[in-house]
Amino acid sequence: MIPFLDLKAINAQYRNELVEAAARVIDSGWYIQGTEVKAFEQEFADYCGTKHCIGVANGLDALILTLRAWKEMGKLKEGDEVIVPANTYIASVLAITENRLVPVLVEPNLLTYNLCPKNAEAAITSKTRVILPVHLYGQMADMPAIMDIANRHNLLVLEDSAQAHGASINGIKAGNWGHASGFSFYSGKNLGALGDAGAISTNDDELAQTIRALGNYGSNKKYENLYQGVNSRLDEIQAAMLRVKLRHLDTETQRRREVALSYVKGITNPAIKLPISPDLTLESLANHAFHLFVMQTKNRDNLQEYLTEAGIQTLIHYPIPPHKQKAYEAWNSSVYPITEAIHQKILSLPISPMIEDDEIIEIIGIINSYESNNG
Ligand SMILES: *Cc1c(COP(=O)(O)O)cnc(C)c1O
Repeated sequence: MIPFLDLKAINAQYRNELVEAAARVIDSGWYIQGTEVKAFEQEFADYCGTKHCIGVANGLDALILTLRAWKEMGKLKEGDEVIVPANTYIASVLAITENRLVPVLVEPNLLTYNLCPKNAEAAITSKTRVILPVHLYGQMADMPAIMDIANRHNLLVLEDSAQAHGASINGIKAGNWGHASGFSFYSGKNLGALGDAGAISTNDDELAQTIRALGNYGSNKKYENLYQGVNSRLDEIQAAMLRVKLRHLDTETQRRREVALSYVKGITNPAIKLPISPDLTLESLANHAFHLFVMQTKNRDNLQEYLTEAGIQTLIHYPIPPHKQKAYEAWNSSVYPITEAIHQKILSLPISPMIEDDEIIEIIGIINSYESNNG
């Protein structure tokens, strides 16, 4: 079986460095808000090119706390609208509703899977305050167009960069386009901790300070509470793991891009719609960190079964869109044809920095000999 993602193999490459970093934390006697978190925050801010990075407990909290901070700063209030792509992973939407803000689901572009700037602009009302683009599957949303819309309509932009560490447009990284950005370091993400972790990047001093307080019981000074905060902090041990992993991120991302290019150059089966053009070069893929390689096919379940039988593990990201979830029952009858078509047709192939060339060749061969039953 070619596994979808072999996390054990990814982390085994860095075992000595990880063990050394863990030992450093264990021996320090200091496990919360110490030197490792501080150093990682600086290193990741430098990596993104932003002034601040604030470590938090996970990616969902990164999004929740940013919106919450804007509420505390008087920039948002309950009932304000947030524009978000309808096909996103549910966490982007949960962050909005958790803050009693109103998600306005917008149809994505069928080819890039990302927020369509035209649809986003058409969805703006007098209550819109935020656009929340998601760099889905690792590919950056059209940030120049989205920032232009935001500037013209005086809106805040919160990037969901949970899948796009290191991707960039015009040399500007994911996390440095919007007014703030949420990152996840969930183990399976491109920059993955050995457990849960997350962060916010921003260039806004006041926002950074407010988020920092909110994630620490609402306190910037011990035993003085400015806000009714929560406990959402990045642990020293995870910060130490992330410092190791960050040093290897660009090499891993480059390998992911190579794998993606091999797939699109090799897969010629007309039943498959590929996520990028086979004419692209490695240099032109800076905007895509290939967290996932998501292709489309009409008879998806049939293809997935075929690949499973051939020993290739695939996954669906994601089988049910937010508006069809029980959690959002009130929206269940809404219709988003592009989003629903995407969810019916998508299939994710194994893509990881550990996949071997002969495995890629095997996968391509098996897909090319697939004969689709119903077109
Ligand atoms: C993973 C993910 C999140 C949530 O991150 P967690 O660390 O799992 O809480 C948010 N948005 C997107 C797009 C994600 O992929």
